[in-house]
Amino acid sequence: MTSISMLINGERRSAEGGASFERRNPLDGSVATVAPAASPADAVAAVEAAAAAFPAWSAMGPGERRGLLLKASVALEAKGAAFAEAMAAETGASGMWAGFNVHLAAGMLLEAASLTTQINGEVIPSDVPGSLAMAVRQPAGVVLGIAPWNAPVILAVRAIATPLACGNTVVLKGSELCPATHGLIIEALQEAGLPAGVVNFVTNAPADAGAVVEAMVAHPAVRRVNFTGSTKVGRIIAQTCARYLKPVVLELGGKAPMVILDDADIDAAVAGAAFGAFANSGQICMSTERIVVDRQVADEFVARFAAKAQSLPLGDPREGPVVLGSVVDMATVVRCNALIDDALAKGATLVCGGKAQNTLMPATVLDHVTPAMQIYREESFGPVKAVVRVDGVEEAIATANDNEFGLSSAVFGRDVARAWNVARRIEAGICHVNGPTVHDEAQMPFGGVKASGYGRFGGKAGVEAFTELRWITVQTTPRHYPF
Ligand code: NAD
Repeated sequence: MTSISMLINGERRSAEGGASFERRNPLDGSVATVAPAASPADAVAAVEAAAAAFPAWSAMGPGERRGLLLKASVALEAKGAAFAEAMAAETGASGMWAGFNVHLAAGMLLEAASLTTQINGEVIPSDVPGSLAMAVRQPAGVVLGIAPWNAPVILAVRAIATPLACGNTVVLKGSELCPATHGLIIEALQEAGLPAGVVNFVTNAPADAGAVVEAMVAHPAVRRVNFTGSTKVGRIIAQTCARYLKPVVLELGGKAPMVILDDADIDAAVAGAAFGAFANSGQICMSTERIVVDRQVADEFVARFAAKAQSLPLGDPREGPVVLGSVVDMATVVRCNALIDDALAKGATLVCGGKAQNTLMPATVLDHVTPAMQIYREESFGPVKAVVRVDGVEEAIATANDNEFGLSSAVFGRDVARAWNVARRIEAGICHVNGPTVHDEAQMPFGGVKASGYGRFGGKAGVEAFTELRWITVQTTPRHYPF
């Protein structure tokens, strides 16, 4: 069992009155972590520490900020084993998923380091004689980052790395489901030597999330919010931010379609589908959730995809390497079992896997899924996948777009020009031609459309999200006035 603390103004802190909450292991119910249960007053203290650190951090030269972020990347990568242990204990994740998380998150800190000298402005021609007009990007202030448990290292680092690179100070609100995993990120940043108050860390009991988040959003020093999580909570956050007029980046749920055209390379499609569907047991916002396959190649694809799915090792990640570890909680099992029951009752075929009794869920494929079935529309966020058979390109595109979500997507086809034109018509923030729906890189503009949210993380798009674009002029010659 791990006991963790919050970080406020460089000090390890417990919550007001010593309040705490537990996170239990999803497989055996043992206590994985005891973490502080912040009150709204604790959360406000974290914002105030970040506000106090802002003037010095935002005035620091880019080279110095870059050096600290580079050190943070090294410190994070060095904690690989600790992250694997914490993720297995708190969320049941496999070692492979933990390793991928740490590696990509370390890359995000490297990318953020490089961005410190890439915060560009513009000189804009002015119609006023002698006016030198500039568009200047400046740090916004305190950035509140709210991150989930499913890709815990990547998504929490993403919530704060580019904001820091831009000269903002931050408060990270950790997930109730993985407070120790998120705490390790904060340790790495501290070891790198970030000044006190530049990064602050708050953890809260599940029931207090709304009050703690609202106290921070309401604080005048908070100038930007970012949230990664479900669409349901995203709507609440959007409404809270609207009340206080705070800009917010929302990275929400997904139901990624993978379109397999009649000329697809089936080997490539099977490999891409298996990775996209079953990495982290399907608990990724970009997870392949709907396989939209042309009827001409469907039989061959489904047979080979099922064989691959059945071969994936499943087990307790604390006992050895697996592809499918434990899912995060029994709620996932109950939700996925209900989706299977509903689909089978309405005529789907179970190709492999099936209902689970505990959080070790097998890779499951349902074929002949139709719009009448819940799994056609709803995010499973587990290893239960729908195959929808279609006739031709137009039906494939219409089916891919027949969903409220629009985060990631993929198209497989050997005629790349045709596949590209399909990709252009898919309503999603991200689309990969002949690549899996699960793909993230620090420098890419990452984000969704429709119910998957708005705003972009990553690279230059992240700089735009976490800076204030100002118009500043200098009058270089005497100015003419009409009176
Ligand atoms: P969640 O929305 O349940 O929880 C995320 C966060 O919301 C937690 O930190 C929690 O404290 C906070 N929260 C809960 N209730 C709140 C309230 N009333 N007010 C303010 N904050 C509140 O999400 P989850 O179950 O942890 O994560 C899974 C979801 O996240 C899936 O839908 C998945 O698709 C999505 N996701 C999206 C992305 C992306 O980049 N688009 C990435 C990963 C996960």
